[in-house]
Amino acid sequence: MELREITDAVGYIPDAVNIGVIRDGSEAIIVDTGLDKGTAKDILKTLEGAGLTVKAIINTHHHADHIGGNAYIKNRTEAIIYASEIEAGLIESPILEPTYLFSGAAPIQGLRNRFLLAKPSKVDHIITGNRLTIGGVEVGIVGLAGHSPNQIGVAVDGVLFCADTVFSMRVVEKYKLPFVQDVSGLKESLRTLKASSYDHYVPSHAGAKEDITELADANLGAIHGIEAMVLDVLEEHRTTEGVLAGLCAATGLEIGRAQAYYLNNTLTMAYLSSLESEGRVKTLFRGNLLHWEKT
Ligand SMILES: [Zn+2]
Repeated sequence: MELREITDAVGYIPDAVNIGVIRDGSEAIIVDTGLDKGTAKDILKTLEGAGLTVKAIINTHHHADHIGGNAYIKNRTEAIIYASEIEAGLIESPILEPTYLFSGAAPIQGLRNRFLLAKPSKVDHIITGNRLTIGGVEVGIVGLAGHSPNQIGVAVDGVLFCADTVFSMRVVEKYKLPFVQDVSGLKESLRTLKASSYDHYVPSHAGAKEDITELADANLGAIHGIEAMVLDVLEEHRTTEGVLAGLCAATGLEIGRAQAYYLNNTLTMAYLSSLESEGRVKTLFRGNLLHWEKT
């Protein structure tokens, strides 16, 4: 791992999830903590090499690959953890992630892995409003819901850490169906990004960029493409699983594991919910199964 500087005060550690680093003298506020203890150890070593100790963690959202290092870093450094409402509850009770993916029932073993179930960590401060002062540093908080119920971006010194609002084109192409929890919320967050004018943007799963427009447009395009596919699949009424199977057929995606199945199932329901709220699809029942049809 290496610390890549963006400005005198702000940098990031490129990794599977980029880790934001905000300097306050010899101390650092970090944005997200990576997947697990191993990642957390590497983060602390990298920061130590730069003469920095961690005094605070800001989590952008509750997904395990963003909070999995919290417990280890907090234990080692006594860092104060900050997160927004809803996300904080899920960070403190990570079993809720596989639980909601499994329709609220006790989750199967295939969903109890480190990619979906992080170690719990206590959130010390709930972030409300659009400003947060930690020591001598003031950061801006930008609401970027949609990928997760109350995801936030962190803005400081002209840099916006914009979390999972945009995925790189490589990720969009590899996973075909980028994860979303609330489609209309995500569209609005992408418009927020496009209308903003930071000097630098650091998405969690793409390299830093000076202009986010192209990537935001590509992600918006992917959403519109998936909406069109769902409506195509619904030329005939289908169950939710039938819609998911149709999306897989249209994108060439092959699902072979419970984790991928349930993530894509939730994504499918996010699209159906959004189309339902726009009055474009509705539910009906056939043989005790819920089906979807176009209005
Ligand atoms: Zn995420």
